[in-house]
Amino acid sequence: MRKEEKIFKAETKELLNLMIHSIYTNKEIFLRELISNANDAIDKLKFQSLTNNELLKGDDKFKIEISVDKDNGTLTIKDNGIGMTYDEVDENIGTIAKSGSKVFKEQLEAAKKADIDIIGQFGVGFYSAFIVADKVTLETRSPYSENGVRWVSSGDGNYEIEEISKENRGTEITLHLKDGEEYSEFLEEWKIKDLVKKYSNYIRYEIYFKDEVINSTKPIWKRDKKELKDEDYNEFYKATFHDWNDPLFHINLKVQGNIEYNALLFIPKKLPFDYYTKNFKRGLQLYTKNVFIMEKCEDLIPEYFNFISGLVDCDSLSLNISREILQQNSELQAISKNLEKKIISELEKVLKNDREKYIEFWKEFGRSIKGGVQDMFGMNKEKLQDLLIFISSHDDKYTTLKEYVDRMGESKEILYVPAESIDAVKALPKMEKLKEQGREVLILTDKIDEFTLMAMRDYSGKEFKSINSSDFKLSDDKEKEEEVKKIADENKTLIEKAKEFLKDKVNEVELSNNIGNSASSLLAKGGLSLEMEKTLSEMTNNNDAPKAEKILAINPEHVLFDKLKAAEGTDNFNKLVDILYNQALLLEGFSIENPVEFIKNLNDLLA
Ligand code: ADP
Ligand code: MG
Repeated sequence: MRKEEKIFKAETKELLNLMIHSIYTNKEIFLRELISNANDAIDKLKFQSLTNNELLKGDDKFKIEISVDKDNGTLTIKDNGIGMTYDEVDENIGTIAKSGSKVFKEQLEAAKKADIDIIGQFGVGFYSAFIVADKVTLETRSPYSENGVRWVSSGDGNYEIEEISKENRGTEITLHLKDGEEYSEFLEEWKIKDLVKKYSNYIRYEIYFKDEVINSTKPIWKRDKKELKDEDYNEFYKATFHDWNDPLFHINLKVQGNIEYNALLFIPKKLPFDYYTKNFKRGLQLYTKNVFIMEKCEDLIPEYFNFISGLVDCDSLSLNISREILQQNSELQAISKNLEKKIISELEKVLKNDREKYIEFWKEFGRSIKGGVQDMFGMNKEKLQDLLIFISSHDDKYTTLKEYVDRMGESKEILYVPAESIDAVKALPKMEKLKEQGREVLILTDKIDEFTLMAMRDYSGKEFKSINSSDFKLSDDKEKEEEVKKIADENKTLIEKAKEFLKDKVNEVELSNNIGNSASSLLAKGGLSLEMEKTLSEMTNNNDAPKAEKILAINPEHVLFDKLKAAEGTDNFNKLVDILYNQALLLEGFSIENPVEFIKNLNDLLA
C-alpha cells in the first residue's frame, strides 16, 4: 500500500495560512463548501453512471450524511459520490488547482489591490475546513479503484496520504474542531440544521443528520416562487457561481408549452473578474431529469448575454447527450431562442419599472448589448434596440430611443454628438443653438456608441445624424445659405489658400452657417467621424486605420473671418488658419498636434 508524507505547494500554504490565521468573520461557510463538494461528487457519479451502470453497484441511494462526536470534538461529512483515487486526492486536495480555491486566490489578490475586504463573503472550497478545524482527515474511495485513500493534515505545511482498505464508495471528511465555544457550537444539532437551511437548502440530494433529512431537496428553481425570498436566490447564486456579491437581480422562468423548462438566471453586479481573460467561459448550467449534465453550455445563451450566469433544467432532453450532439439538439435550440426573448423582455421590464437599477446594469454590461447590436451587420438590431439607453441633452439623463422619438415630433433625424463628457458637450456653441430650437441631442460618451448607431442606421424609420457631420443643418434658412454661398464665391482664393496650408490635415475648407457662434468647426463627411477614426486607430494601434474625411468649416459671420480676410497675403494669414484649425480641434474634444506652434502663433497675433 502506498504511503507518503508531502509538503504543500507554496500557494496552497499561503491560502491555508490565510484560512487559519485570518479572523474569518464568517466561519460557518465551511459547511456549505463541504456539502457543495459532496453534491458535486454525487452529480459526477450520477452522470457517469448513465453510461456505466456498474458504478452504482450496491449503493444507489444517493445521500450526504452529517454526524458529530461530541466527546472527540469532531464533525463528519460523508457522501456516496464519485470519491477519489490516490492520485486524484493528491492532485485535488494537495494543490490549489481546482476552480473554487483558485478563483478565490485570484479574487483575493484583486481585492487586496483594490483594498476591499472580501474575507468572510466568499467560499474557498475544501480548504475552508481549516477555518474551524486544526486537523482534517479525509477518507475516500473511487469506484474505479480497489483501495481507499486517507489524507490527513493539520494545515501546517504538510500532509500525509496513504492507501487504506475502505469498503464503501464515496468520501468522508472529519474535522477535528479547534478549541473554543465558537467552534464547539458546530457540534450542536440546532446549529447544523440552521446552517443547512441557510446555505445548503437547495442541495438536491438528501442531507441526513441523525437519520433525519434536514434539507428541502427540491431544487430552488423547482420550488414555488411564492415560497422564495431574495435571500434564497442570493445565497444560491453566491454558493453556486462563485461570486462574493449578491446578484443585481435574478430571472426565474418556468416555461410551459411545446418545450417545458425551468431557468434561473442571475445578472451579476459586476463583470466577472476574469471576463477579459481567456479563462472566462460563458454558458449556463444544464440539468435534465435532475441530473447535472454540463457546467457551461454555451449554446443556451447568445454571446451578448455572456455575463449572465444561471441554469436551465429541461426534463425532455435526452440523458445521453454529448457535447457534439447537444449543438444540433433542436430542443436546446428552441430553449435558447425562447430564453433570449425572455431575457430581453425581463430587461425591458426593469428598464421600465426600475430605471435606477437598469442604469446600474447598463454601466456594467451595456457594452455587451451594444456589441450585440453591432455584431453580424446589425442582425440583432430589432431585438436589442429597445434595451439601448443614451444620455440626452433633453435633461442630461438616460433616455431610450423610443422616448427620444416620442419627443421629437416631426423631425426626421435622431441627433447625436460623440463626446468625452456631458459638460464638454454643453459648452459647444452648436448646442446652444440647438437648445434654443428645442432640439434634443444624444450625448455619446462611450467610444463604441457611434459604431452602434452606425450599425443600426435608423430607429423606427428615423435616421441617426451626428451634429458634427458636414451635412447636418443647424438651420433651415435658405436665404442665409445663399448668402454664405455668395461670400464663399467672393473669397474663393482665400479658401483655396487655407486649404493648401492645411492640406495634410483636412480634405476641405468651407464657409458654413451651420456651426453656431464658433469661429470654426471640424466636421466629417460620410460615414466615418473623427471620433471613430480616433477609436479605430487606438484599437488597431497603427496609421493604416481608416481615416475620416475632414472639413474645416469657418463661420463667415465671426470677426476672425474678417481678420482672415484682412490678413490675406501677409505672414499672419497662415497663423490665423492654424489657430482656426486648432481651436476647432480643441472644441471637439481632441488634443492639438503641436501646442508649442499653436501658442506661438496665438501670442504673435495677440502681440
Ligand atoms: P471546487 O469544488 O471548486 O473544485 P474545492 O476546493 O471545493 O474546489 O474542491 C477541490 C476538488 O477536490 C474538487 O474539485 C474535487 O475534485 C475534489 N473533492 C472535494 N471534495 C470531494 C468529495 N466529497 N468527493 C469527491 N471529490 C471531492
Ligand atoms: Mg467546492
